[in-house]
Amino acid sequence: MNNNIGSIAIRVDDLSFHYGDKNVLQHVTMEIKKGSFLGLVGPNGSGKSTLIKCILGLQKPQEGNVYLFGEKVNKFNDWEKVGYVSQKANSFNTAFPATAFEVVSMGLFGKVGLFKFLKASDKKKVWEALRSVKMDQYAHQNIGELSGGQQQRIFIARALVSDPELLILDEPTVGVDTESSDSFYKMLKELHRENSMTLVLVTHDVGVMTNYVTDVACLNKQIHFHGNTKEFEESSSENISAFYGHHVHVLHHDHGHE
Ligand code: ADP
Repeated sequence: MNNNIGSIAIRVDDLSFHYGDKNVLQHVTMEIKKGSFLGLVGPNGSGKSTLIKCILGLQKPQEGNVYLFGEKVNKFNDWEKVGYVSQKANSFNTAFPATAFEVVSMGLFGKVGLFKFLKASDKKKVWEALRSVKMDQYAHQNIGELSGGQQQRIFIARALVSDPELLILDEPTVGVDTESSDSFYKMLKELHRENSMTLVLVTHDVGVMTNYVTDVACLNKQIHFHGNTKEFEESSSENISAFYGHHVHVLHHDHGHE
């Protein structure tokens, strides 16, 4: 089958999915390399979230298979290797009386309340996660008092605290203003570089994202493109605008700066 299986984090093999008679994904095949930072792009309704749910075993495709770290997803049980921040993360009940620190510590135990009994080593992990998303100065603030973008960083810290090898973020910048989404991407790029983890960023925004990721996959029921950022930028004028049905301006940046 595949002789470089050890270097693949996610393998999707001829996957098709429908909700009732609505076809959402058709014959999707892709491999996501360990250590890559993939931008999974596609217009709204193109099946991105559904594909992620299939990858996480939350939805069962009618056809095809998903492998996580070489293991079929229904047999996979190393879930502590996988962090996921869903689109709905910011519909978390923010009136909930917990501080940012407490919300992040929930990533270690999955339960509210246990944070009162954190060991020193656990507290250290929580601080590291908060620092890596640049939110340590907000640790003792109530989650409800933070902006949408800040809350999103806290949910990412909650996913990071168990030190996953793979982190999947579904539309993390929805509702976040352009300036904070730029610094958000910058933060993700740093996280990716420092933690050598595999990062999958789902977004309908094909613009600035290409400046931060290593690879791009375009989905609209099917995979229309999957390659590195350079190949994406080269192919973008013909492929991408056709794929989006309107002109999409793909920004070309100076890759020299950090
Ligand atoms: P994206 O994440 O790219 O916006 P989704 O995977 O959420 O796309 O949705 C793909 C299509 O499937 C959309 O047309 C959406 O309306 C439909 N869809 C999503 N979830 C459901 C569901 N639970 N039941 C029926 N249709 C759904």
